[in-house]
Amino acid sequence: MQALNSSNSGIIITDNALPDNPIIYCNKAFENITGYHYDEIIGHNCRFLQSHDRSQPEREKLRDAIENSKECRVEIRNYKKDGTLFWNELFVSPVKNNMGEITHFIGVQNDITERKNAEIQLRDEKASTEEKIAARTKELQDNEAFLSSIIQTVRESLLVLDSDYRVLSANKHFLSSFQVTETSTVGKILFELGNHQWDIEALKQLLMKILPTNNPVIDFEVTHDFPYIGRKVMLVNAYRIEFDGHFKDRILIAIEDITDRKEIEQRKDDFLSVASHELKTPLTSIKGLIEVLQRLKPENSSEKFISILDKVAGQADRLNLLINQLLDTSKIQSGHIELHKEPFEIDQLLSDTISNFKYGDSNHRINLRGKTNAIIHGDDLQISQVINNLLSNAIKYSPEDKVIDVQSDKVSNYVKVSVTDYGIGISRSDQAKIFDRFYRAQDIQQKFAGLGIGLYICQQIIVSHDGTLWVESEEGRGATFNFTLPIMKIQENEE
Ligand code: ADP
Repeated sequence: MQALNSSNSGIIITDNALPDNPIIYCNKAFENITGYHYDEIIGHNCRFLQSHDRSQPEREKLRDAIENSKECRVEIRNYKKDGTLFWNELFVSPVKNNMGEITHFIGVQNDITERKNAEIQLRDEKASTEEKIAARTKELQDNEAFLSSIIQTVRESLLVLDSDYRVLSANKHFLSSFQVTETSTVGKILFELGNHQWDIEALKQLLMKILPTNNPVIDFEVTHDFPYIGRKVMLVNAYRIEFDGHFKDRILIAIEDITDRKEIEQRKDDFLSVASHELKTPLTSIKGLIEVLQRLKPENSSEKFISILDKVAGQADRLNLLINQLLDTSKIQSGHIELHKEPFEIDQLLSDTISNFKYGDSNHRINLRGKTNAIIHGDDLQISQVINNLLSNAIKYSPEDKVIDVQSDKVSNYVKVSVTDYGIGISRSDQAKIFDRFYRAQDIQQKFAGLGIGLYICQQIIVSHDGTLWVESEEGRGATFNFTLPIMKIQENEE
């Protein structure tokens, strides 16, 4: 008994021979665990520990063990004398006499409330985490369904690639545009698709940089002859996929078919080219005839007659200039711009161009400053055309002002020429577009005549001389157009 009392586990013994199997012994630890005194325990059936909490499934297990004389272990909710709940880990084992009859049961109990609470808490947390995961998964599935429905319906071909450039998915538009099946596309490496139409070294290089650098591929033009659909011109854009602010090892490729657009552009270019050629022929004879008229005019012609003839000649020159611009644009477009490069003195070219410059009946003063002594290797007629164009614009767009400044400088191994006017200026947003073909600033369309191709031609000429052309301007405060040209050499006798 001493030994039983010193145990930390609560121990009871019940007498199976007496009605309702009463407790006939309990140790100290049992009193401590339950809060009941020895006198309140002896004689009672163990069930008093369950208080009102009678519907626990463990009770069945207990009853079954007792009825069938078996050992059992249960974890059961019990209540102390003061009503507080404790989890009881209860071992029950029967004691038999030498006839094999059950005389007693021994119950050993441990208060496992702390462990049980921790378990319950863990279970609750697990359940709530599972709930959260399920909710998040559902959200992701919804998002994915949403995204994939967008991807499937957009009228642009889209591909998603993994980091080995293998196609993970292709949208409907891609499959129908290129007349391919999902099985011949998905799972295949992009560069091996079809008859290797995407196996383009330059595109490969750009795509390979996407994942390590996050740099997108923007408007890469691809032309290819496809087996069933023929020749296609496409713009390829590619991005690294970003999801929830994180970059993934996935590439989204968008392919825009611009074949029709290109064809329309081509037709427009062809039309412009034919139209300007057709206009040029009669105009050349008109110009010739005006010259004849000017030469043959009677001695006693009136002032008015002479001035009208001069005006007609001036307008014919203007028309000639516009038609030449149109012809130049179509030559540039078709890649037929002809450059006759020879060394020339830029200082001389500037002063000659300025002194021969005529613009309608304008009386602007053109100041030329700076001396470079530089020899440029280039087409002097084309460079002179650039200067003429910039001067015409400077005068046209500064009707209220009468001064144009032209400055030339030697900057490192370049000549820099700047043409400044003090006229209407150019807004920041227009500055980015005025070098585009046919672009004219929005608010000047009605007020100033023009085709919007002068600067485009200038740009192409300067670029084909390895120089750059750019503008600095503030709206309402004039504009400075600058261009640079690489110096071939400096005139030795001058310096
Ligand atoms: P165009 O003068 O025939 O319209 P350009 O290609 O020469 O065509 O010029 C394109 C546009 O740039 C013009 O329509 C005008 O809006 C703007 N621009 C060019 N030069 C000037 C300038 N000196 N000052 C203000 N705007 C200018």
